[in-house]
Amino acid sequence: MNIAANNPELRSWVEVKQGSDFPIQNLPFGIFKTNGLTPRVGVRIGDFVLDLKTLFVLGYLENLAFELSDFDSEYLNPMMKKGKKATRDLRNRISKLLNATHDDLKKNEHHVGQVLIHIDQVEMCMPLQIGDYTDFYSSKEHATNVGVMFRDPANALLPNWLWIPVGYHGRSSSIIISGEAIHRPKGQIKPVDNEDPIYAPSRQLDFELEMGFFTFDGKPIGDSISTEEAEEYIFGMCLFNDWSARDIQKWEYVPLGPFLAKNFASSISSWIVTLDALQPFKTETPKQEPEVLEYLKFTGEKSYDIHLEVAIKPDSSAETIVSRSNFKYMYWNMAQQLAHHTVNGCNVRCGDLMGSGTISGPTEDSYGSMLELAWKGTKPLPMNDGSERKFIMDNDIVTIRGFCEKNGVRIGFGEVSTKVLPAKK
Ligand code: CA
Repeated sequence: MNIAANNPELRSWVEVKQGSDFPIQNLPFGIFKTNGLTPRVGVRIGDFVLDLKTLFVLGYLENLAFELSDFDSEYLNPMMKKGKKATRDLRNRISKLLNATHDDLKKNEHHVGQVLIHIDQVEMCMPLQIGDYTDFYSSKEHATNVGVMFRDPANALLPNWLWIPVGYHGRSSSIIISGEAIHRPKGQIKPVDNEDPIYAPSRQLDFELEMGFFTFDGKPIGDSISTEEAEEYIFGMCLFNDWSARDIQKWEYVPLGPFLAKNFASSISSWIVTLDALQPFKTETPKQEPEVLEYLKFTGEKSYDIHLEVAIKPDSSAETIVSRSNFKYMYWNMAQQLAHHTVNGCNVRCGDLMGSGTISGPTEDSYGSMLELAWKGTKPLPMNDGSERKFIMDNDIVTIRGFCEKNGVRIGFGEVSTKVLPAKK
């Protein structure tokens, strides 16, 4: 499909610096507020945020499917409730308004001053009211690494892994936005030399390099979404750090899976990049062997070439990049994840979040967690300041960044950055 807003030739009359994540071809959605403005829907362009509430009031969003309350909202959900076609038309309209060859908005300087706000004056807010959060486990390299470390190197993948996009239901109440700090979690840990567990702050706090996708309203309960239909039900994607306490996880996860090791926090980036904007960056997924069951088969390119990196910044020194990976390494793609999620009749709702699972690449410097990068603590990672990391220390800031690049167009996600404060007393 040809989406007008994706044309690589487009230029905006709003200044977009070289290398920016947010050219006119991106136009991601988020929720922002300022000292004078209540939370509302915004679209990012360069170093500016376009205020959709005010844009609507000034009459620039007429003849679309939206009303004022869709933009005068502290969450994107009302806007997303209007569905794929409506949000695609909206993005195309915004692209036109910001296009250097159109002056409908540009010529009205007093309007421009009202609707374009510099990013320095803006505070980003949690963009969605997330109903349900599901986390997958879809990187073959990650699942293999974990299997090698904790089970049997000869049979690293469990028998179901190549047949099922394995996942579990997570916790949405503790999903936080980039910039919000977390405290080191406490819980039950069973040290190797102890007979009984202890209660203590986690000593093995880890990040998980993931991406998330947000759904539109799905089908009624009882119905399924096919791989063919799946992308019509996906609004967009964000960067996602699914915090994990490995020592708590190790003791608690049998037989029902992770609980307190995972539900204390998961961080998302502020801007939701639409699946439409990512369309030019589609790429093939890894070959699946054995052949998957009928409902998981798909046609065409279903993954996206998204460069990812993770940095750790100690309290008082510069950051070190500890991993470079790519979303395209995922074995199971989003269409398969959504098809599997709903094949039993489970319904998804507008604003549900699906995590990809840790995205590890094939090489040691492309692993998506400290568990793998430092190989269970046996290979500490050197930091630029001379210190070492086996896991995340107090006051470290962990930042994930991601972007696509092709034909001179760079579509970025910005970052998700989280500081780890010491455990609460
Ligand atoms: Ca995870």
